[in-house]
Amino acid sequence: MRILSLFGALSLALSPAAAQDAQWTLVIHGGAGTIERARITPDQDREIRAALNAAIDAGTKILAAKGSSLDAVEAAVRVLEDSPHFNAGRGAVFTWDGQNELDASIMDGRTRKAGAVAGVLRTRNPISLARAVMEKSPHVFLGGGGADRFAIDQGLEQVDPKWFATPERLLQLEQMKTKKLSSYDVDYKFGTVGAVALDAQGHVAAATSTGGMTGKRWSRIGDSPVIGAGTYADDRACAVSATGSGEYFIRVGAAHEICARIRMQGDTPKQAADAVIAEIGGLGGSGGVIVTSPSGSADWSFNTEGMYRAKANSAGERHVAIYQDEG
Ligand code: ASP
Repeated sequence: MRILSLFGALSLALSPAAAQDAQWTLVIHGGAGTIERARITPDQDREIRAALNAAIDAGTKILAAKGSSLDAVEAAVRVLEDSPHFNAGRGAVFTWDGQNELDASIMDGRTRKAGAVAGVLRTRNPISLARAVMEKSPHVFLGGGGADRFAIDQGLEQVDPKWFATPERLLQLEQMKTKKLSSYDVDYKFGTVGAVALDAQGHVAAATSTGGMTGKRWSRIGDSPVIGAGTYADDRACAVSATGSGEYFIRVGAAHEICARIRMQGDTPKQAADAVIAEIGGLGGSGGVIVTSPSGSADWSFNTEGMYRAKANSAGERHVAIYQDEG
């Protein structure tokens, strides 16, 4: 991508028409885990790729029209929240007490403003609530009933909690309880969703949304809504969204650590992402990240068998992948 950017700069100098074609990039994920061909039916494979494509379409439509990276990441994540295939919004995992408790965060690399919510029960698109916290409140992080009340004040769509529930997720909770399994045993993947983007104005943004871990208790909150852990964006370095065993991503400050490595140590985004995923692996954690940067780079790194992921850019490149061997 660096070579591409250099080539882009060269063509700007050579062709005034091309100068108007500013560069943009979008990368999304739908969770990492033991995602192998043997575990996924052809129908599921097709439906998941269709959902990833729909999310990419929603974001790239905005970026191609010179819209903001913030609008693009919110739009892409809303599509994934509304899909039952991912652990965010509709299709979220169940808590031990049989609820869907949703967490989300968003960050603007231009201003480093951020918004986050945890334990949301009724707001259809938690990512839009996180954005409202960022733009319409003096705060960064709201939790529980207060976050839903703020959503009502902001006129965001409220739904019956049944909207989020799917039979597959309920079965996972039941299996976990009867067989005394871990959340990872019943749900072989971390189905959190996320998006990072660079817009034509050179600004980056990141967004992440999740239902957390199956059977979570005691109002457990993972990394996804924690700015610096599951989400970070800084125009000086990069934008990151993570998925995985959240406790490890919090302990490592994963998303901020990737941007800090790029900004202060001169790592490429890929080097920084690989280093931080290796560090998480060394502590016993697993998962993955997606990263973009003001250079237009589009990278991912994960230490699991697969990660639902996709990327597209203004050069017309597009890639949708599930398994490790798909690049
Ligand atoms: N990182 C999320 C959490 O710990 C889980 C996931 O990625 O699915 O809540």
